Amino acid sequence: MPRARKPAAARTARGREDPAARRLRARAVLRRLAKENPDWGPTLEFSSPFELLVATILAAQAQDEHINQVTRSLFAKYRGPADYLKVPVEELERDVHATGFFRMKTKAIRGASEQLLAEFGGEVPGDMDSLVRLRGVGRKTASIVLGNAFGVPAVAVDRHVARVATRLGFSRKGKDGIEEELRSLYPKKNWVKATWNLVLHGRRICTPTPRCPVCPINDLCPYPKKTKDARTTRPAPRPRSPARPRR
Ligand code: SF4
Repeated sequence: MPRARKPAAARTARGREDPAARRLRARAVLRRLAKENPDWGPTLEFSSPFELLVATILAAQAQDEHINQVTRSLFAKYRGPADYLKVPVEELERDVHATGFFRMKTKAIRGASEQLLAEFGGEVPGDMDSLVRLRGVGRKTASIVLGNAFGVPAVAVDRHVARVATRLGFSRKGKDGIEEELRSLYPKKNWVKATWNLVLHGRRICTPTPRCPVCPINDLCPYPKKTKDARTTRPAPRPRSPARPRR
């Protein structure tokens, strides 16, 4: 059932939403999304920071469930950074072929493995500055590893988070701006929770063609192009089996 519309958010003299009102709205959004997505959390399977790093590199432009199918056998064969360097490039390319962009991903995994061995004693570092120095690792991948493998508060902005945050009017400043904005809207302890709830909302409801008629935060969203068509209410496909970290 659609919820009753709330009074318009407080506005500044220029017609912009007051920062305090936006913070309250953002927190209301998170409360409601967390209720809708009690399964929020990492959808890539991993048992160590290194496995999560590899899985996240492989997950670019691919579905997490599909990556899990590949990594189940990959992680049984390759235990640590040295294993990815022992085999010929072509063999690793074959092993990750099904994830797409396999040449680029192979280069990134081998490059990061080399750096981990040369500069970090074979261990994944637990800080942003070191992580983003690794080949193929940007702020999104680093934030996922920090937040989910190390328990360090971090906001990861993928395409779903970027889309949902922009539609919700939380930021119009590009990916780095969105990360900064979300960090200012939520307390640190909720950064990982906010990331996953926005990801799941973007996958399930606020898809590229949003399913606004069934959206649980419809009344909190100022997006001017909300859908009204019932045809958009068809549920987005869910993973066949919910993937959880193998910890
Ligand atoms: S109302 Fe529509 S655009 Fe706004 S968050 Fe919900 S699904 Fe996305």
